Amino acid sequence: MQTIGIIGAGIMGTGIAQTVAGKGMDVVLTDISLEAAEKGKAKIEKSLGRLIAKEKITQGDADALLARITPTGDYAAMAECDLIIEAATEREDIKAKIFEAAGKVLKDGALMASNTSSIPITRMGAGTIDPTRFCGLHFFNPVPVMGLIEVIPGLATSEDTIAKMKAFGEKLGKTVVLAGDEAGFVVNRVLCPMLNEAICVLGAGVANVADIDAAMKLGANHPMGPLTLADFIGLDTLLEIMKVLFESTGDPKYRPATLLQKYVEAGWYGRKSGKGFYDYSGDEPVPTR
Ligand code: NAD
Repeated sequence: MQTIGIIGAGIMGTGIAQTVAGKGMDVVLTDISLEAAEKGKAKIEKSLGRLIAKEKITQGDADALLARITPTGDYAAMAECDLIIEAATEREDIKAKIFEAAGKVLKDGALMASNTSSIPITRMGAGTIDPTRFCGLHFFNPVPVMGLIEVIPGLATSEDTIAKMKAFGEKLGKTVVLAGDEAGFVVNRVLCPMLNEAICVLGAGVANVADIDAAMKLGANHPMGPLTLADFIGLDTLLEIMKVLFESTGDPKYRPATLLQKYVEAGWYGRKSGKGFYDYSGDEPVPTR
Protein backbone atom coordinates (compact mmCIF):
# COMPACT_ATOMS: atom_id res chain seq x y z
CA MET A 1 0.00 0.00 0.00
CA GLN A 2 1.44 3.36 -0.98
CA THR A 3 -1.40 5.87 -1.03
CA ILE A 4 -3.79 6.10 1.89
CA GLY A 5 -6.96 8.20 1.96
CA ILE A 6 -8.10 9.56 5.31
CA ILE A 7 -11.58 11.02 5.74
CA GLY A 8 -11.95 13.20 8.83
CA ALA A 9 -9.10 15.48 9.85
CA GLY A 10 -9.84 15.74 13.57
CA ILE A 11 -7.85 14.28 16.47
CA MET A 12 -7.65 10.79 15.00
CA GLY A 13 -7.51 11.55 11.27
CA THR A 14 -4.56 13.90 11.75
CA GLY A 15 -2.81 11.40 14.03
CA ILE A 16 -3.27 8.62 11.48
CA ALA A 17 -2.11 10.91 8.65
CA GLN A 18 1.04 11.87 10.56
CA THR A 19 1.82 8.23 11.34
CA VAL A 20 1.19 6.98 7.81
CA ALA A 21 3.20 9.79 6.16
CA GLY A 22 5.93 9.22 8.75
CA LYS A 23 6.34 5.71 7.33
CA GLY A 24 6.89 7.04 3.81
CA MET A 25 3.39 6.51 2.42
CA ASP A 26 1.38 9.23 0.66
CA VAL A 27 -1.76 10.58 2.32
CA VAL A 28 -4.85 12.18 0.82
CA LEU A 29 -6.61 13.94 3.70
CA THR A 30 -10.15 15.26 3.57
CA ASP A 31 -12.81 16.62 5.92
CA ILE A 32 -16.09 18.49 5.39
CA SER A 33 -14.26 21.11 3.28
CA LEU A 34 -10.83 21.85 1.86
CA GLU A 35 -10.42 24.48 4.58
CA ALA A 36 -11.08 21.91 7.33
CA ALA A 37 -8.63 19.46 5.70
CA GLU A 38 -5.98 22.21 5.53
CA LYS A 39 -6.60 23.02 9.19
CA GLY A 40 -5.93 19.35 9.91
CA LYS A 41 -2.64 19.49 8.04
CA ALA A 42 -1.71 22.67 9.99
CA LYS A 43 -2.34 20.74 13.24
CA ILE A 44 0.08 18.04 12.06
CA GLU A 45 2.66 20.72 11.29
CA LYS A 46 2.24 22.09 14.82
CA SER A 47 2.64 18.64 16.35
CA LEU A 48 5.79 18.05 14.27
CA GLY A 49 7.08 21.43 15.48
CA ARG A 50 6.91 20.12 19.05
CA LEU A 51 8.89 17.01 18.02
CA ILE A 52 11.52 19.20 16.32
CA ALA A 53 11.82 21.33 19.49
CA LYS A 54 12.42 18.14 21.49
CA GLU A 55 14.98 17.08 18.85
CA LYS A 56 13.03 13.89 18.13
CA ILE A 57 12.91 14.62 14.38
CA THR A 58 14.75 17.01 12.08
CA GLN A 59 13.20 19.91 10.19
CA GLY A 60 14.06 18.03 6.97
CA ASP A 61 12.14 14.92 8.07
CA ALA A 62 9.15 17.05 9.09
CA ASP A 63 9.15 18.87 5.74
CA ALA A 64 9.33 15.57 3.84
CA LEU A 65 6.50 14.10 5.95
CA LEU A 66 4.28 17.14 5.36
CA ALA A 67 5.00 17.08 1.63
CA ARG A 68 3.48 13.58 1.51
CA ILE A 69 0.11 14.84 2.89
CA THR A 70 -2.31 16.36 0.38
CA PRO A 71 -5.41 18.02 1.81
CA THR A 72 -8.47 17.97 -0.44
CA GLY A 73 -12.07 19.14 -0.31
CA ASP A 74 -13.59 16.34 -2.39
CA TYR A 75 -13.30 12.62 -3.05
CA ALA A 76 -11.76 12.70 -6.54
CA ALA A 77 -8.21 12.11 -5.25
CA MET A 78 -9.45 9.13 -3.20
CA ALA A 79 -9.54 7.23 -6.52
CA GLU A 80 -5.74 6.92 -6.25
CA CYS A 81 -5.85 5.33 -2.80
CA ASP A 82 -5.04 1.71 -1.98
CA LEU A 83 -6.83 2.06 1.34
CA ILE A 84 -9.38 4.62 2.54
CA ILE A 85 -9.65 5.06 6.29
CA GLU A 86 -12.73 6.84 7.63
CA ALA A 87 -12.00 8.77 10.84
CA ALA A 88 -14.96 11.17 10.95
CA THR A 89 -17.35 12.03 13.77
CA GLU A 90 -18.67 8.98 15.65
CA ARG A 91 -22.14 8.97 14.06
CA GLU A 92 -23.40 6.13 11.93
CA ASP A 93 -25.41 8.37 9.58
CA ILE A 94 -22.33 10.50 8.84
CA LYS A 95 -20.15 7.45 8.27
CA ALA A 96 -22.74 5.79 6.00
CA LYS A 97 -22.79 8.87 3.73
CA ILE A 98 -18.99 8.91 3.64
CA PHE A 99 -18.79 5.24 2.61
CA GLU A 100 -21.40 5.80 -0.08
CA ALA A 101 -19.38 8.69 -1.57
CA ALA A 102 -16.01 6.94 -1.15
CA GLY A 103 -17.38 3.73 -2.69
CA LYS A 104 -18.09 5.63 -5.92
CA VAL A 105 -14.39 6.39 -6.44
CA LEU A 106 -12.80 3.32 -4.76
CA LYS A 107 -10.42 1.70 -7.23
CA ASP A 108 -10.46 -2.03 -7.99
CA GLY A 109 -8.86 -4.05 -5.23
CA ALA A 110 -8.59 -1.08 -2.87
CA LEU A 111 -9.79 -1.45 0.71
CA MET A 112 -11.93 0.67 3.03
CA ALA A 113 -11.82 0.78 6.82
CA SER A 114 -13.50 2.61 9.66
CA ASN A 115 -11.75 3.90 12.76
CA THR A 116 -15.05 3.76 14.64
CA SER A 117 -14.78 3.20 18.37
CA SER A 118 -18.01 1.31 18.73
CA ILE A 119 -20.32 1.12 15.71
CA PRO A 120 -20.88 -2.46 14.40
CA ILE A 121 -18.53 -3.21 11.50
CA THR A 122 -20.77 -5.83 9.86
CA ARG A 123 -23.67 -3.36 9.73
CA MET A 124 -21.52 -0.54 8.33
CA GLY A 125 -19.84 -2.91 5.88
CA ALA A 126 -23.21 -4.06 4.51
CA GLY A 127 -23.79 -0.50 3.25
CA THR A 128 -20.45 -0.30 1.43
CA ILE A 129 -19.77 -1.11 -2.20
CA ASP A 130 -17.94 -4.36 -1.28
CA PRO A 131 -18.23 -5.67 2.30
CA THR A 132 -15.45 -8.23 1.60
CA ARG A 133 -13.02 -5.29 1.26
CA PHE A 134 -14.15 -3.51 4.43
CA CYS A 135 -13.23 -3.86 8.08
CA GLY A 136 -12.63 -1.95 11.31
CA LEU A 137 -9.18 -0.47 11.84
CA HIS A 138 -9.19 0.98 15.32
CA PHE A 139 -6.30 3.28 16.20
CA PHE A 140 -5.66 4.76 19.64
CA ASN A 141 -5.07 8.34 20.68
CA PRO A 142 -2.48 9.83 20.23
CA VAL A 143 -1.90 7.70 17.15
CA PRO A 144 1.82 8.47 16.67
CA VAL A 145 2.48 7.34 20.26
CA MET A 146 0.08 4.47 20.94
CA GLY A 147 1.32 1.04 19.94
CA LEU A 148 -1.96 -0.79 19.28
CA ILE A 149 -4.37 -1.24 16.39
CA GLU A 150 -7.48 -3.40 16.70
CA VAL A 151 -8.44 -5.02 13.38
CA ILE A 152 -12.14 -5.87 13.44
CA PRO A 153 -13.42 -8.04 10.60
CA GLY A 154 -17.12 -7.90 9.81
CA LEU A 155 -19.02 -11.06 8.90
CA ALA A 156 -18.32 -10.54 5.18
CA THR A 157 -14.69 -9.34 5.43
CA SER A 158 -12.41 -11.57 3.37
CA GLU A 159 -9.30 -13.31 4.74
CA ASP A 160 -7.28 -11.40 2.14
CA THR A 161 -8.56 -8.06 3.52
CA ILE A 162 -7.75 -9.12 7.09
CA ALA A 163 -4.22 -10.14 6.08
CA LYS A 164 -3.65 -6.85 4.23
CA MET A 165 -4.96 -4.77 7.14
CA LYS A 166 -2.71 -6.64 9.58
CA ALA A 167 0.29 -6.09 7.31
CA PHE A 168 -0.59 -2.38 7.02
CA GLY A 169 -0.80 -2.02 10.83
CA GLU A 170 2.53 -3.76 11.24
CA LYS A 171 4.09 -1.52 8.57
CA LEU A 172 3.09 1.40 10.79
CA GLY A 173 5.08 -0.21 13.61
CA LYS A 174 1.97 -1.10 15.64
CA THR A 175 0.95 -4.31 17.35
CA VAL A 176 -2.23 -5.62 15.75
CA VAL A 177 -4.89 -7.39 17.79
CA LEU A 178 -7.84 -9.11 16.11
CA ALA A 179 -11.10 -8.25 17.84
CA GLY A 180 -14.62 -9.56 17.31
CA ASP A 181 -17.36 -7.29 15.99
CA GLU A 182 -19.06 -6.66 19.33
CA ALA A 183 -19.77 -3.16 20.60
CA GLY A 184 -16.62 -1.50 21.93
CA PHE A 185 -14.41 -4.34 20.62
CA VAL A 186 -11.83 -5.10 23.35
CA VAL A 187 -10.33 -1.87 24.64
CA ASN A 188 -13.38 0.41 24.72
CA ARG A 189 -15.63 -2.33 26.07
CA VAL A 190 -13.38 -2.46 29.13
CA LEU A 191 -12.11 1.14 29.29
CA CYS A 192 -15.17 3.32 28.57
CA PRO A 193 -17.42 1.87 31.32
CA MET A 194 -14.57 2.65 33.76
CA LEU A 195 -14.37 6.27 32.54
CA ASN A 196 -18.18 6.53 32.66
CA GLU A 197 -18.13 5.21 36.24
CA ALA A 198 -15.56 7.84 37.22
CA ILE A 199 -18.02 10.48 35.92
CA CYS A 200 -20.85 8.84 37.94
CA VAL A 201 -18.60 9.01 41.02
CA LEU A 202 -18.03 12.72 40.32
CA GLY A 203 -21.76 13.32 39.77
CA ALA A 204 -22.61 11.54 43.04
CA GLY A 205 -20.24 13.88 44.91
CA VAL A 206 -18.02 11.05 46.14
CA ALA A 207 -14.89 13.06 45.28
CA ASN A 208 -13.84 16.02 43.16
CA VAL A 209 -12.14 15.91 39.75
CA ALA A 210 -8.56 16.19 41.03
CA ASP A 211 -9.08 13.56 43.75
CA ILE A 212 -10.75 11.03 41.42
CA ASP A 213 -7.83 11.36 39.01
CA ALA A 214 -5.25 11.18 41.81
CA ALA A 215 -7.02 8.15 43.31
CA MET A 216 -6.94 6.16 40.09
CA LYS A 217 -3.39 7.19 39.22
CA LEU A 218 -1.97 6.27 42.61
CA GLY A 219 -4.42 3.58 43.68
CA ALA A 220 -4.66 1.68 40.41
CA ASN A 221 -1.31 2.75 38.94
CA HIS A 222 -2.97 4.24 35.85
CA PRO A 223 -0.66 6.62 33.95
CA MET A 224 -3.47 9.18 33.61
CA GLY A 225 -6.59 9.84 35.71
CA PRO A 226 -9.93 8.76 34.16
CA LEU A 227 -11.32 12.31 33.92
CA THR A 228 -8.13 13.57 32.27
CA LEU A 229 -8.37 10.66 29.84
CA ALA A 230 -12.08 11.30 29.16
CA ASP A 231 -11.25 14.94 28.31
CA PHE A 232 -8.43 13.72 26.10
CA ILE A 233 -10.64 11.26 24.18
CA GLY A 234 -13.40 13.87 23.80
CA LEU A 235 -16.58 13.77 25.91
CA ASP A 236 -18.81 13.75 22.81
CA THR A 237 -16.97 10.67 21.52
CA LEU A 238 -17.14 8.97 24.93
CA LEU A 239 -20.88 9.65 25.13
CA GLU A 240 -21.46 8.17 21.68
CA ILE A 241 -19.49 5.04 22.64
CA MET A 242 -21.49 4.60 25.86
CA LYS A 243 -24.76 5.05 23.93
CA VAL A 244 -23.74 2.34 21.46
CA LEU A 245 -22.71 -0.04 24.29
CA PHE A 246 -25.99 0.66 26.13
CA GLU A 247 -28.28 0.43 23.11
CA SER A 248 -26.63 -2.62 21.54
CA THR A 249 -26.65 -4.69 24.71
CA GLY A 250 -29.63 -3.20 26.58
CA ASP A 251 -27.54 -3.73 29.70
CA PRO A 252 -28.06 -0.91 32.28
CA LYS A 253 -24.43 -1.21 33.39
CA TYR A 254 -23.52 0.77 30.25
CA ARG A 255 -25.99 3.66 30.83
CA PRO A 256 -24.17 6.96 30.06
CA ALA A 257 -23.53 9.07 33.17
CA THR A 258 -25.99 11.98 33.53
CA LEU A 259 -23.11 14.39 34.07
CA LEU A 260 -21.42 13.20 30.85
CA GLN A 261 -24.62 13.98 28.93
CA LYS A 262 -24.85 17.43 30.56
CA TYR A 263 -21.25 18.32 29.71
CA VAL A 264 -21.80 17.37 26.09
CA GLU A 265 -25.07 19.36 25.99
CA ALA A 266 -23.09 22.36 27.28
CA GLY A 267 -20.56 21.95 24.46
CA TRP A 268 -17.85 21.03 26.98
CA TYR A 269 -16.18 18.28 24.94
CA GLY A 270 -12.88 18.21 26.83
CA ARG A 271 -9.47 19.21 25.59
CA LYS A 272 -10.56 19.80 21.98
CA SER A 273 -13.17 22.44 22.95
CA GLY A 274 -11.00 24.00 25.67
CA LYS A 275 -13.18 22.81 28.55
CA GLY A 276 -14.39 19.55 30.02
CA PHE A 277 -13.60 18.16 33.44
CA TYR A 278 -10.65 20.56 33.26
CA ASP A 279 -10.41 24.08 31.88
CA TYR A 280 -7.60 24.33 29.32
CA SER A 281 -7.58 28.11 28.80
CA GLY A 282 -4.50 28.71 30.98
CA ASP A 283 -1.00 27.24 31.00
CA GLU A 284 -2.07 24.31 33.19
CA PRO A 285 -5.42 22.45 33.16
CA VAL A 286 -7.65 23.54 36.09
CA PRO A 287 -10.35 21.18 37.45
CA THR A 288 -13.88 22.49 36.81
CA ARG A 289 -15.39 20.74 39.89
P1 NAD B 1 -12.97 14.73 16.03
O1 NAD B 1 -14.24 15.38 16.47
O2 NAD B 1 -11.68 15.26 16.54
O3 NAD B 1 -12.87 14.74 14.42
C1 NAD B 1 -13.89 14.33 13.60
C2 NAD B 1 -13.69 15.02 12.26
O4 NAD B 1 -14.63 14.48 11.33
C3 NAD B 1 -13.95 16.53 12.33
O5 NAD B 1 -12.81 17.21 11.82
C4 NAD B 1 -15.18 16.71 11.45
O6 NAD B 1 -15.20 17.96 10.76
C5 NAD B 1 -15.03 15.53 10.50
N1 NAD B 1 -16.25 15.21 9.78
C6 NAD B 1 -17.54 15.25 10.22
N2 NAD B 1 -18.37 14.91 9.23
C7 NAD B 1 -17.61 14.65 8.14
C8 NAD B 1 -17.89 14.28 6.81
N3 NAD B 1 -19.13 14.09 6.40
N4 NAD B 1 -16.86 14.10 5.96
C9 NAD B 1 -15.58 14.29 6.35
N5 NAD B 1 -15.25 14.66 7.62
C10 NAD B 1 -16.26 14.84 8.48
O7 NAD B 1 -13.16 13.18 16.37
P2 NAD B 1 -12.02 12.07 16.57
O8 NAD B 1 -11.72 11.95 18.01
O9 NAD B 1 -10.93 12.30 15.61
O10 NAD B 1 -12.85 10.75 16.18
C11 NAD B 1 -12.98 10.32 14.84
C12 NAD B 1 -13.31 8.85 14.84
O11 NAD B 1 -12.28 8.12 15.49
C13 NAD B 1 -14.61 8.50 15.57
O12 NAD B 1 -15.22 7.44 14.90
C14 NAD B 1 -14.10 8.06 16.94
O13 NAD B 1 -14.99 7.19 17.58
C15 NAD B 1 -12.83 7.35 16.54
N6 NAD B 1 -11.83 7.21 17.60
C16 NAD B 1 -11.60 8.25 18.47
C17 NAD B 1 -10.62 8.10 19.44
C18 NAD B 1 -10.30 9.22 20.40
O14 NAD B 1 -9.61 8.97 21.40
N7 NAD B 1 -10.71 10.43 20.13
C19 NAD B 1 -9.89 6.90 19.53
C20 NAD B 1 -10.14 5.87 18.61
C21 NAD B 1 -11.12 6.04 17.65
